[in-house]
Amino acid sequence: MQKLIIATHNKGKFKEFKRMFGSIFEVHALPYNGFDGDVEETGTTYYENALLKAKFVYENTGELCIADDSGLSVTSLNGEPGLYSARYGGENTPQKVKNQMIIDRLADKTDRSAKFICCLVLYGKNGVVAVGNGEVEGKILFTEEGSGGFGYDPIFYCNELNKSFGVASEDEKNSVSHRSRAITDLLNKLKDIDVNNK
Ligand code: IMP
Repeated sequence: MQKLIIATHNKGKFKEFKRMFGSIFEVHALPYNGFDGDVEETGTTYYENALLKAKFVYENTGELCIADDSGLSVTSLNGEPGLYSARYGGENTPQKVKNQMIIDRLADKTDRSAKFICCLVLYGKNGVVAVGNGEVEGKILFTEEGSGGFGYDPIFYCNELNKSFGVASEDEKNSVSHRSRAITDLLNKLKDIDVNNK
């Protein structure tokens, strides 16, 4: 079976990738063969950042690799925190503080709509094999609801689930999430591609 390296250090993300790709690839996490590097996300789009990560891991392992980049885009904040979702308010700022910063910045706004966005890039010896995109729409809550998930989940009310991602179970979140949609999009594209020898 073709090996696939998942370029993430996030255990939750790895679990979801393994569940979705495990039947077609021999899935490996980082560190792989002693390689555990991280590349700086200097891209100006989710695609560019996912490509940077996937290419970097491919170049250092010689194995087919998948990387994602994702973020929260808040309409009234002109799409912020967006590409800077992980670094919003500073690298070491606790997530609760980041969540409160967003709530505070929306205090005088009527439009509280937001969406999570994810882009995935599968990269091998011939370059980009396939790209997957996914989004999920919702609203920013006035206070945190629930403590499930990670990141901005407790302040994100998902329109389709009618509850916050912080309250939703893992299965519920996976049924609509930007990441699982990007994975499904990519898997659909792979149907027409022979993934062996990539
Ligand atoms: P990256 O894709 O690992 O660079 O991280 C993007 C950042 O976006 C994360 O650190 C979170 O702050 C945020 N984010 C991405 N996906 C989710 C999600 O499913 N729930 C909550 N926050 C998320």
